Amino acid sequence: MHPDGCIFFLSRKWRGCDLRGRAVAAMIAGVMNDERFVSGIFNYCDYWCERCAFTQRCRNYVMGRELEREARGKDPVDDATRASFWDQLADQLRETTVFGRAGNWVDDGAGDDYDYEPDPELEVREREHRRAVKDHPLTTLAHTYMKKAHKWLESSDVDLKAVAKELLDAAGRPFDETDYEEEARRIGEMIEVIAWHHTLLPPKIGRAVSSMLERDEHEDPELAKILAESHQYDANGSGKLALVSIQRSAAAWVEMRKHLPHREDEIIEMLAILSRLQRGILEAIPGAKSFVRPGLDEKDGPLP
Ligand code: SF4
Repeated sequence: MHPDGCIFFLSRKWRGCDLRGRAVAAMIAGVMNDERFVSGIFNYCDYWCERCAFTQRCRNYVMGRELEREARGKDPVDDATRASFWDQLADQLRETTVFGRAGNWVDDGAGDDYDYEPDPELEVREREHRRAVKDHPLTTLAHTYMKKAHKWLESSDVDLKAVAKELLDAAGRPFDETDYEEEARRIGEMIEVIAWHHTLLPPKIGRAVSSMLERDEHEDPELAKILAESHQYDANGSGKLALVSIQRSAAAWVEMRKHLPHREDEIIEMLAILSRLQRGILEAIPGAKSFVRPGLDEKDGPLP
């Protein structure tokens, strides 16, 4: 993998295997060399790009937008009164300027001679590793939380609508200075936080556990050491993200508890699971707590 964690650099699909691929490869190379980006910021973020202050410092985000634009190019916008028509034309002009006319491009077949020989021993080890990750108490607890939170969200529509009605009834009462609009927004915000993070936790905790359980055997001790360090780094980073995600989810549940007191028991159960997850991560991956995620936990903020 590229040091920045960019899978596209290894993917032969994107390395000159088709004509548009060359333009995409050039775009990717441009993005990779741009120094405004924080290296690896997207490795330990929560992928909530809509809410991220670092979009302009994140290669993954910028590259995703470029690729989207590229995909749209396959279905041309045929209306010159729309900005998208001109965006598309600008993209096309850039490609032509960099590579010449599409008709003159030749597929050089780069990378087509790669043969993959499966290693049965390695496959057995990987299968065992996957099973160990799946059966680890932290992974199973994260899945339990996800299922319970999902069920709660699915079953809360009526209760939440009742809260909405109460807010509507209360708004506009004389001598009442409560900001009901803000209250409604906060409830929406908390629901979104719970909904976002309950699906993020299992894969992130799974990744932390996976890196933690890696056995870095190699005949070259130097290489074994490097592998062990990189797995430890990844376990710490993924563990840190899980801790942040747990903290945000717990804060959201605490707030929901105020609005839905009759569902307190369920909410307390969620909080208890989150607390067990937190303790489990701190115990199993002690380096997670102090891990500094590139960009996100550093002093350098987003671009102005
Ligand atoms: S760092 Fe921000 S913009 Fe980049 S992938 Fe993560 S959430 Fe999205």
